[in-house]
Amino acid sequence: MTKKLIAGNWKMNGNLGANAQLLDAVLEGLGGRALACDVAVCVPAPYLLQVQGYQDRSRDSSGAPRLWLGAQDISRHESGAYTGEVSGRMLREFGVRFALVGHSERRQYHGETDETVALKAKAALSAGITPIVCVGETLAEREAGQTDDVVRRQLAAVIHENGHCITEIVVAYEPVWAIGTGKTASPEQAQQVHAVLRAQLGVASPAAGGIRILYGGSMNAGNAAELLAQPDIDGGLIGGASLKASDFLAIVGAAQVL
Ligand code: PEP
Repeated sequence: MTKKLIAGNWKMNGNLGANAQLLDAVLEGLGGRALACDVAVCVPAPYLLQVQGYQDRSRDSSGAPRLWLGAQDISRHESGAYTGEVSGRMLREFGVRFALVGHSERRQYHGETDETVALKAKAALSAGITPIVCVGETLAEREAGQTDDVVRRQLAAVIHENGHCITEIVVAYEPVWAIGTGKTASPEQAQQVHAVLRAQLGVASPAAGGIRILYGGSMNAGNAAELLAQPDIDGGLIGGASLKASDFLAIVGAAQVL
């Protein structure tokens, strides 16, 4: 069975003091043992150094961090005149293991296209960072019966650009209507889309069964177990609930027992 991944997305939240309080509590809750799932937090770029320290402190006896460091975005470019952007090589210097690409907030507010997202995934892979590629439909698209087409189109661009190393990515299905709204896709709705994505990945690679497909969208301590029990849901991308240690740890706990 694929090892589940629970990744927090702090979005543009936090400060040095609050981050320390949150991460002290998360590390204490994770305890000293090796975990049955991977746990990560994707943090704003100014906090990479701070959270790298927690990643280092969290190593288990095998040397693997119990808490992995993730970024929320990555430049598609390697270096140069791209003011404000952060390259994969820079992120690697801070020990970044995962980078979100194509989060719906980046697609919506920063005009990221499927092609940009695919190139960002490529930039991450070439820097040795695992991209967490976010896909998902808006409410209008769901109501128009376009969900499968939309997520397939978004993923197709990433497969097209990264075909030979597609097994190295993580996919996150995040229905836009469920992000930060308190409305969660039902386990059946989520599983149905995950199965569509799994089938598409299966055409691209015979090893698609090992590609982790996360669900994101108002996952919380109360609904995590049922969502994570679905056969094609290999973890969660957690926004709001990742900002409270007890909620985040409860979700990690749900992933551990499955
Ligand atoms: C997200 O930002 O990726 C997310 C899933 O947010 P929330 O859990 O708050 O819906």
